[in-house]
Amino acid sequence: MQSRVVIALCLALVLMAGVVAQQRQARPPRGATVLFDGKDLSKWVSRDGRTPARWEITPNGAMQVKAGTGDIMTRDEFGSFQLHIEFRIPEMPGASGQGKGNSGVYLHGLYEIQVLDAYQNQTYSKGGCASIYGIKDPDKNMAKPPGQWQTYDITFIAPKFDSSGNVLAKPRVTLRWNGEIVHNSVEIPNITVGGIGNQMRATGPILLQDHGNPVQYRNIWIRPLRD
Ligand code: MG
Repeated sequence: MQSRVVIALCLALVLMAGVVAQQRQARPPRGATVLFDGKDLSKWVSRDGRTPARWEITPNGAMQVKAGTGDIMTRDEFGSFQLHIEFRIPEMPGASGQGKGNSGVYLHGLYEIQVLDAYQNQTYSKGGCASIYGIKDPDKNMAKPPGQWQTYDITFIAPKFDSSGNVLAKPRVTLRWNGEIVHNSVEIPNITVGGIGNQMRATGPILLQDHGNPVQYRNIWIRPLRD
C-alpha cells in the first residue's frame, strides 16, 4: 500500500515538473526582449514605418490580424537572433488552400516563414505552414488543429557582406515548429515575395503579414545573437 502511495507521489511530481517545464519554455530567457506581452503594440508599427500598428488586442492576450490594416513590423531591427513566437490559426471551415489561416513571419522583413492552416488543408509545395515560402517545405508537418496555439522557435543567422556590400554568406535559418526541428541551418538563397525591400541586408525588423485572415500571435520575444 505504502509503495503505491510513493509511486503515485512520484508520478504527481513528474507531472508537475513537466507542467512547470512547459511554462518555463515559454518564458523569455535572459537577454531577450519581449516584443509582445499581451497588452499593447508599442513595439510594433505598420510596414510604412510610421503609421501605428492597427491590429487588435484580444481578451485572451493575443494580437490579431485586422484584415486590411496591413502588415506590422517591429520598430527595432535585428541582425542574427533567436525568436520565439506563438500563433493560432482561426477556424475557417469554408476556406481552403492559401485562404485558410494565412499569415507569415518575415525575418529581417525579407524571408517569410509561412503561417497557414496545415492540419487538414492542402496547398502547393513550399507554400504550406512552416515553409520558407517558395524555397523549402518543412521536413515534417507538425501542424496542430485550428484553434490551438502553436510555436515557432527560430534561429536566424544574418547574411555577411564584404566592405563593398557584396554578400559573402547568405542567411541561415533553423526552425523548431511545435518542438520539432523542421529546418536545420538551411541556407536561404533569396528573399521571398511580399517583404520590405528587394535585397539582403545586415539587419531588419520582424514583420507579420496581414493576409486577410484573423490569425493571432502571442508571447513574442527575441534574443540577439553575437556572430
Ligand atoms: Mg503568408
